[in-house]
Amino acid sequence: MKVAIAGAGMSGAYLYRLLDEEGIQADVYDVKRRNPCGLHSCAWGATPTSEVRKLVSRFLEPTAYELQQFDSINIEGLDIPADLLTIDKPRLINDLLCDTEVHTQPFDPNDYDRIVDATGEARAFLGPTSGPQFLAPCRQYRIKLDEDLGMSIKISSLGYEWCFPIGNNEYHMGFGNLKTDTTEFRPSTTGVMERGKILCRCNSKVRLSSPHATQPFVSGNIVGVGESIGAVAPLAADGIVYAMQTAEMLVDHWDNLEQYPTDILKRYDWMGKERQGLNRLFAGKMPSIRELRAFLHHTRIAGLSLSLKQAMFFFRRILDSQTEAEKSLG
Ligand SMILES: Cc1cc2nc3c(=O)[nH]c(=O)nc-3n(C[C@H](O)[C@H](O)[C@H](O)COP(=O)(O)OP(=O)(O)OC[C@H]3O[C@@H](n4cnc5c(N)ncnc54)[C@H](O)[C@@H]3O)c2cc1C
Repeated sequence: MKVAIAGAGMSGAYLYRLLDEEGIQADVYDVKRRNPCGLHSCAWGATPTSEVRKLVSRFLEPTAYELQQFDSINIEGLDIPADLLTIDKPRLINDLLCDTEVHTQPFDPNDYDRIVDATGEARAFLGPTSGPQFLAPCRQYRIKLDEDLGMSIKISSLGYEWCFPIGNNEYHMGFGNLKTDTTEFRPSTTGVMERGKILCRCNSKVRLSSPHATQPFVSGNIVGVGESIGAVAPLAADGIVYAMQTAEMLVDHWDNLEQYPTDILKRYDWMGKERQGLNRLFAGKMPSIRELRAFLHHTRIAGLSLSLKQAMFFFRRILDSQTEAEKSLG
């Protein structure tokens, strides 16, 4: 079977190695990228530690990609116990691909028996989706700064600003939002841009739609994986671990794709419920108890110890922040 993997991001690179392990050689394609990190979106936070290590250790020594480990994250001034890592995602992807050539020219789909759409937010091959999409614009910087800033998240309108230490006095700082323009974003920590050295910056988007609204996953000889099929947590926007997990699931179903969509929807049922909570927040309303529970389920599997009271506090902050942002726009 001739196989093409379109997209050499987290899901495409991990899938490449899984197929290679099965004796299936795939051709890998991507588009030309101009960022210094060489990726469409670098991203650094991965959680929980045990799952990241389990997935990576299938092929590589996971600790080689770990930059910093955290046992808490500050969200809106509250220190939340957590089991988080920052990882060198660009290097991990590069090493998963070993010495495979990543082709950057367009290819003829007719040349392949199976095409895997691993193009993330672009969903370039699977095409239109079953439901409305939430594609949140993000602005991000990699900054070198000789100061000790912790890992933090600050809520702003329908999104958040993050600061992730990535070792060697470097920070990944960014802002993603569904209701606010992010292109002019500058980190809110006073003077960071002036005191620090900006190593890299880019704009990108993250799909917060859930797999449930991002069907079909299979169309003719095309099958999707990772963010192209919505495998991203709609409220927190983490997708690195799910990109690898969906690649594993695709390989498990490789010879018969019929059950693949059902199993994806079942495993990530909580993403569908979180998405409903996001719809409600978008409309200026509090998520239902069922949606809150799905969010808490996600935080638990992501290694965060969050109480219902704290979750309600964060959602209240989102709603208040949206009202403030709307008022300031008149
Ligand atoms: C700013 C930002 C920060 C994030 N931070 C985190 C984080 O800290 N932790 C976390 O867990 N998740 C984070 N995410 C989400 C996470 O990065 C993604 O969900 C995850 O990388 C998805 O992997 P993927 O391989 O499916 O897609 P991607 O990693 O997006 O890879 C898609 C690849 O397809 C390529 N491509 C696009 N169009 C085409 C085409 N037509 N042909 C061929 N190739 C194409 C792209 O260049 C890219 O290389 C973040 C996302 C963004 C945007």
